Amino acid sequence: MDDQFDDKFHDECGVFAIYGHPEAAKLAYLGLYAQQHRGQESAGIVSGNGRKIYTHKGMGHVSEVFTEGVLKGLRGWLAIGHTRYSTAGDTVLLNAQPLTVGCNKGLISVAHNGNLTNARQLRKHLEETGSIFQTTSDTEVIVHLLARSAKKNFQEALEEALLQVEGAYSLVLLHGDQLYVVRDPRGFRPLAIGLLPRPENAPSGSHSSNGEAYVFASETCAFDLIGARYWGEVNPGEIVRVDSKGIHTSRFAAETPHAFCIFEHVYFSRPDSQVFGRSVHRSREGLGRRLAREAPADADLVVPVPDSGVAAAIGYSAESGLPFKFALIRNHYVGRTFIEPEQNIRDFGVKLKLNPVRSLLEGQRVVLVDDSIVRGTTSRKIVRIMREGGAREVHVRISCPPTIASCFYGIDTPTQKELIGWNHSVEDIRQYIGADSLAYLSLDGLRQSVGDSEGEFCTACYTGNYPTKLATIQVETSNRR
Ligand code: SF4
Repeated sequence: MDDQFDDKFHDECGVFAIYGHPEAAKLAYLGLYAQQHRGQESAGIVSGNGRKIYTHKGMGHVSEVFTEGVLKGLRGWLAIGHTRYSTAGDTVLLNAQPLTVGCNKGLISVAHNGNLTNARQLRKHLEETGSIFQTTSDTEVIVHLLARSAKKNFQEALEEALLQVEGAYSLVLLHGDQLYVVRDPRGFRPLAIGLLPRPENAPSGSHSSNGEAYVFASETCAFDLIGARYWGEVNPGEIVRVDSKGIHTSRFAAETPHAFCIFEHVYFSRPDSQVFGRSVHRSREGLGRRLAREAPADADLVVPVPDSGVAAAIGYSAESGLPFKFALIRNHYVGRTFIEPEQNIRDFGVKLKLNPVRSLLEGQRVVLVDDSIVRGTTSRKIVRIMREGGAREVHVRISCPPTIASCFYGIDTPTQKELIGWNHSVEDIRQYIGADSLAYLSLDGLRQSVGDSEGEFCTACYTGNYPTKLATIQVETSNRR
């Protein structure tokens, strides 16, 4: 659906990798399919057998990019895959990943979830000293740095390259018959490890040492679909190498305070995933419970903004004792384009997506639970739709603090000036969206609900306190009242 009606931060990318399975590409396809919510602009898979690689990439959803015939052609027993929503670089096929480059280190294919905050400076320097870039994506910087390294050993060269980049990166790389999986020292983006039993009749050459294939994914919902079991996390600052002898783990960077993206738990990840080792659904229900304690409402029922507000609304309902009702129905079949009638219909885009259930709302005082207010435009339309649907009062409750700053770690966000929370008070926002009352969860409440007792999460979009130096970006101080 057109983004103009979707006032949310946008998902970034999803990665997947598998080593040691005769159906590597098909399983990568399913792994990407399960992670479609992390990027809808392009998808790609590179597979290999240690001697040759096979590639297919395209614009659109995973189901549009891959056909049975295409997957048959992606041979081999190791594969990496990517779904993309561009956070850096243009939206063109050239920037679709995995990115494959031939250089003095051989053929390297890489897929990246995250955003490098010093990519512009590094690229400028590389170009001034002779590098020729194929794409406008920040990921290519890593490959050029790798190619420039004087180290002969591939892993040492990769480590040298990684020590020069800053920001967020969860990477999967295919190099010959080896798979490398990397997470940045702060661990902004998730990256989970799973094990998948191999078929008994698997041909030789598709081996892994313990009779199981290794799988890696941004989110564990990818493991559930292919029947893999969750084994753990790639730790921040770690390189995992998988070869015929098994899995080898080592650190490439010194211990650094962690900065797991808290918004993965608030909104981005699927509720059926384990992210940073914790159930997303559990976090979201906890956010709702805490919100009910911090911001109770004199109301008759709790209604979620589907789908992302559902788990928090369940928590709010359980804690408050108010009944939970699906009184706002989402149309799951809205395509990315549609034909609008010539006669102007107010709130057409939002109505196409969400419709109120009049029989549940008529005369009721409603607590409307959502996960964020970005610009405020969509929330305003939803409140209006609820009233038109018969609600007597609409009390909006948001399961995180006001969003006051943009993200530079792989999430597509509007500029800071476009964020309604940056320079408006909660009361201003309430008036703008037309709610009877408005309350947000506190930062403490958010941290506690995701189990952040050690301060291991990034909360920069709520505080403006970025966990790294931002080389290229001027961050403005909030003048929020
Ligand atoms: Fe996540 Fe916000 Fe930090 Fe970006 S700024 S990594 S969205 S918590």
